[in-house]
Amino acid sequence: MGAIAKQPEVKNYINGKFERNGQPSMDVISPLDGSVISTLPLSTYIELDVAVKAAKEAYPAWSSMTIKERVQIFFRYRSLLEKNMDELAKLVQLENGKTYGESIAEVEKSMELCEFACSMPQIVSNEVQEVSKGVECRIERKPLGVVASIAPFNFPNMVPHWSMPNALVLGNTMIMKPSELVPLSAMRMAELLKEAGLPDGVFNIVNGGKEIVEAICDHPGIEAVSFVGSTVVAKIVYRRATSNLKRCVALGGAKNHLIVLPDANADMTANNVIASMAGCAGQRCMAASVMVGVDNIQHIIDKMVEEAKAIIPGENLGSVISAEAKERIENYITEAEKQGAIILVDGRGFSVPGKSGGFYVGPTIIDHVTPEMSVAKEEIFGPVIAIIRAKDFNEAIAIENSSNYGNAAAIFTQSGALAKEFMEKASAGMVGVNIGVPVPREPFSFGGWNESKFGVADITGRSSIEFWTQVKKTTVKWNQGAKTNWMS
Ligand code: NAD
Repeated sequence: MGAIAKQPEVKNYINGKFERNGQPSMDVISPLDGSVISTLPLSTYIELDVAVKAAKEAYPAWSSMTIKERVQIFFRYRSLLEKNMDELAKLVQLENGKTYGESIAEVEKSMELCEFACSMPQIVSNEVQEVSKGVECRIERKPLGVVASIAPFNFPNMVPHWSMPNALVLGNTMIMKPSELVPLSAMRMAELLKEAGLPDGVFNIVNGGKEIVEAICDHPGIEAVSFVGSTVVAKIVYRRATSNLKRCVALGGAKNHLIVLPDANADMTANNVIASMAGCAGQRCMAASVMVGVDNIQHIIDKMVEEAKAIIPGENLGSVISAEAKERIENYITEAEKQGAIILVDGRGFSVPGKSGGFYVGPTIIDHVTPEMSVAKEEIFGPVIAIIRAKDFNEAIAIENSSNYGNAAAIFTQSGALAKEFMEKASAGMVGVNIGVPVPREPFSFGGWNESKFGVADITGRSSIEFWTQVKKTTVKWNQGAKTNWMS
């Protein structure tokens, strides 16, 4: 990316209009070079309340359209994402710091999420059955009303698309709260939704931080909340939203374990583990964070070191999100070193020529980590992999199972039997065999276990249909003259 361009100031998007009413403001910083690119309004309950009223007013007309009519807008919107791909990807890169290629992949994933939403008329069919002579029962999926979605910084374009297309196609109206660190992509989404023909008030954006999240959890006009972010905040949001009697699915942080057995294909494994750990600068909830190497896997570690050394910050590795994130990640590496772990590739102290204000951490491989070290237990959220050596498969499984998290886990092996056993025993919601980032593709759903997700439903795929709808059961007696039915 060339010179960093200043962006328009961030505004809320309420009832089809961008507005900003003198709320306190916060700087938006590009992590690529540390420059201020915009400012963001820190909204309060007052702005949220206006947005909820707009969404409530839009709800009757929107929810009474047929699902086939609603998806027409999303066919057009998906085409607009494709048409504007380059611009959208550059915006992601600018505000988040990932590479252009990763940013393109993110927008492509948003398109795929829209494709699933567009397939809803084929999936969401209601049921009817004649339950006794002349009497039928019918089940219909109905929207909930006004719903909300709260997003993290690491996928400014994709994560909002985990919730928005499905919730809207199913007939809800929505308030979106983007991460205050990356609020620009969501504004462009709103413009493209309007261009695609979405009626005003159906989709609204309220910007801000903690205060607006708490207001969303408390507002009586909001029926359901989807949240994606760290476990600490996921717990706060899940507790607060459900205590206010809302539905909530809250996805939290991760500490994903990849188990490598000595029979694994060495080239493919080394390549996958490093790509999983360093992609998006390790700021993916599906990133490899711990590798559990069983028995002698030195030849694979040697290849990983070669792979990692070919990754250069500012070239094929993006920045991390902030100065604090860089400091936190580097502190984890230093602490592990002090505790006796061996740093095979060291990403500390990187700066990119011409972008000295940017927040870059190089790929880092830490070997001989022990399970009690913080790099083995805590989410680092940077391009760092901790290698724990295990004597056998059972010890490796026990290490994976002891994690508080449970987003993803994967195994690399050519043994079908051990792969199958791992699939049974891994304590994670998304499991991979010979794949470093086992993200399920639609219609399969996305969601972890343990402290990586709170709530019953997953956030995408078929499971999200349950989350964003409620079931209406209707019983009709057509043979009004009949006296034999037990239902009178
Ligand atoms: P975060 O938890 O700091 O922020 C997420 C959202 O919560 C933001 O919109 C933010 O404004 C808000 N928030 C922050 N602190 C809050 C508080 N004290 N009270 C109320 N709201 C608050 O997360 P982040 O740093 O933006 O994103 C990174 C985290 O998200 C990582 O832990 C990552 O694993 C996780 N994540 C998880 C998934 C998943 O699918 N499980 C996907 C993406 C990211």
